[in-house]
Amino acid sequence: MSNKTLDLSDNVYEYLLDHSLREPALLAELRRETSELEMSIMQISAEQGQFMALLTKLLGVKRAIEVGVFTGYSSLSVAMAMPTDGELIVCDMSEEWTSMARRYWEKAGVAKKVTLKIAPALKTLKALLAEGQAGKFDFAFIDADKTNYKNYYECCLELIRPGGVIAIDNVLWGGAVADMSDDSADTRAIRELNDHIHKDDRVDMSLLPIGDGLTLARRR
Ligand code: CA
Repeated sequence: MSNKTLDLSDNVYEYLLDHSLREPALLAELRRETSELEMSIMQISAEQGQFMALLTKLLGVKRAIEVGVFTGYSSLSVAMAMPTDGELIVCDMSEEWTSMARRYWEKAGVAKKVTLKIAPALKTLKALLAEGQAGKFDFAFIDADKTNYKNYYECCLELIRPGGVIAIDNVLWGGAVADMSDDSADTRAIRELNDHIHKDDRVDMSLLPIGDGLTLARRR
């Protein structure tokens, strides 16, 4: 027995999926279609999508931001969990990948909740702040280029209300964050953000070993 989080063996992981996953058919279809792409590793896992949908309901999220859409698994999970008058602003640079996301938002009947901004995300986040949107969001999910992670975090922290939550993906980076021989720009950027949030007294936080590591930071 151990009270530290275990590295799950294949059969325990299978058990976890068998006894918790309730993946809606449309999300399963999107996951299958995305798995045929070369970059499919960028898709979040089904159990993480389900966790984010639960979080959306727990927090009563009505307005949310997503930085990094890819083919839309997380945005579809969150949008489906939001109320009908929910509003999700999503940022990405790729017309190609987000066209798949758009197709699934339509199919799921959630397209009217989602506003896609094809532009550098930092530009979109700064524009929202300039429009007076600070403190107007309940939830933000950051899963994009790692070297900008700290900039995205700082902007999102201004955009969410006190009590709102930011979720940041890939914070364990396949274990590379703990491997000091790894000095790549992405790894350094993630380490820097992890240190920054750990010391940041503007938030309550927890780093969860879900998927590739997910930090939750709640604005105080
Ligand atoms: Ca990711």
